[in-house]
Amino acid sequence: MGAEVVRYTYRLRPGARAERALRGEWHRCRFLWNEAVHQHRSGNRPTFGKLSTLLTAARRSNTWLRAGSQVAQQQTLRTYGQALGHSFTVKGRGRPQPKSRKKTLPSLEYTTRGFSIWDRRLVLPKGVSVPVVWSRELPSEPTSVRVYRDSLGHWYAPFVVRREAKRAPVVDGGIGVDWGVTTTATTTDDRHDLPHLGHRSRCAAELAKAQRTMARRRRKPGRQSNGYQRAKRQAARLHKKAARQNQHDSRVWAKQVVDNHHLIAVEDFKPKFLAKSTMARKAADAAVGAAKRELIDRAERAGRKVVLVKPAYTTMTCSSCFARAKQQLGLEERTFRCETCGHTDGRDRNAARVILAVAERGHTSVDGISHFQPPSGSVDGAA
Ligand SMILES: [Zn+2]
Repeated sequence: MGAEVVRYTYRLRPGARAERALRGEWHRCRFLWNEAVHQHRSGNRPTFGKLSTLLTAARRSNTWLRAGSQVAQQQTLRTYGQALGHSFTVKGRGRPQPKSRKKTLPSLEYTTRGFSIWDRRLVLPKGVSVPVVWSRELPSEPTSVRVYRDSLGHWYAPFVVRREAKRAPVVDGGIGVDWGVTTTATTTDDRHDLPHLGHRSRCAAELAKAQRTMARRRRKPGRQSNGYQRAKRQAARLHKKAARQNQHDSRVWAKQVVDNHHLIAVEDFKPKFLAKSTMARKAADAAVGAAKRELIDRAERAGRKVVLVKPAYTTMTCSSCFARAKQQLGLEERTFRCETCGHTDGRDRNAARVILAVAERGHTSVDGISHFQPPSGSVDGAA
């Protein structure tokens, strides 16, 4: 498989001085970006080479620009050039727009010439040094880094590194995955089920509380009160926390599933995120979304066979004889009972088995297979 290029992201904890320097750096880069947009609009068609020459000249005469990192400034123009290129070649991609002071978040890019890691700190040009939270070891020397701040005011650094691609163990056998609210993933093998963990519902309850506070403090027109802003920040923080936990659980789970199966049949569930649905429901849907994404990505990277199965009729069909029940199971009904062959199973377990059986027979929906149809030959990854 060879090496793959991936990003390893770490939290940064800049002190007041470093944060001021990063903001200053960002304002200079933003100024250059906006200059490039302006040049383009006034009829010039500056290439990256042309912009780069202009930058060199500008830095010679302008002490404010010279106070910043040349690498970060060059990278800004390079990114602009790429965005401009994409606006011509990628459908639906607009021209690069000016970055406003208030609405855009700081983002700076450095290539190898522009940064180093010294004494476990990220060292940037002009004497800026930022402590990094090394949550895991870098697998190799990074070739570039982006330093950015999110809407909560947290700083992060995704390092671009090369990593030896690990070959997934050779296995055969398949697994079917059915998504749900109380159990995020029910599979054909109960050792691989992913429960909807308690900390997530706790998070959802706190989030619901923060949102109620927001609603109570909301004024109709004009500027919102400080109390409202505080509740809003709290809600954003909780949202992010839940997303991080989902992602962590999903990663651990997906690795287990992918390492142990060759065929991975997944219910093609699409959460609707209706405005009317409850907070608990939204949290459950978000957990499913994260787990599904992680599972499919990982399985595809590992070269496994992934089959997305349409959810229609999966809960109404018997996984033993494929007879379809005449009526939809009520939501509160947790047990599936087949009227044709007498097979009984947990509702979601039965659905997971149906999903796997559909994929094993080379189909993507229950409609493709009929009653008593045996599997069509063996399943192999080349198909
Ligand atoms: Zn049956």
